[in-house]
Amino acid sequence: MKCPMCDIGTIKLARVTGPYDSDLPDVIVDGFEAGACSECGEEYFKRPRGTEASERVLAALLGKSTRLAPSEVRFLRRSLGMPARDFAETLGVSPEQLSRWENAGKKGTGKVQISATADRLVRAFVAAKKGLALPELRAIDASQSAPLQLRLTLGRQGWREVAAKSAA
Ligand SMILES: [Zn+2]
Repeated sequence: MKCPMCDIGTIKLARVTGPYDSDLPDVIVDGFEAGACSECGEEYFKRPRGTEASERVLAALLGKSTRLAPSEVRFLRRSLGMPARDFAETLGVSPEQLSRWENAGKKGTGKVQISATADRLVRAFVAAKKGLALPELRAIDASQSAPLQLRLTLGRQGWREVAAKSAA
């Protein structure tokens, strides 16, 4: 396609494999497309069936059997497009507390992870807001914390899950 930026160069999009989001480094998607303009170098990124992919990722995250990792709490908040202050107010915690949950383990932030109760509240709230099925809350083992491992690939029938490298 012709570059809409410079109107001279052409863009060839190629299928790429990579992390879905910087907050979910172990969620890998194979099927998005990227390319750059041959003239001006402007970079383009395309997400075929992106809504479907995002619903798959959200459902997997909401249904994961271990406690939400700090960056996953942040990802869920971001998925709602909510500023930290609004999200904290909704959950009934201070912005400082939410910040601790979202940044636990980072340098100079302490290690206060989200509580088992708040973990469930966050999932239920996001599920309700997004119109997704409520996860099986009793199945969550809050004593375990491992980032979600998920690998999605885009085929003719849409996105499907393929086995992750290391089994959880
Ligand atoms: Zn261009």
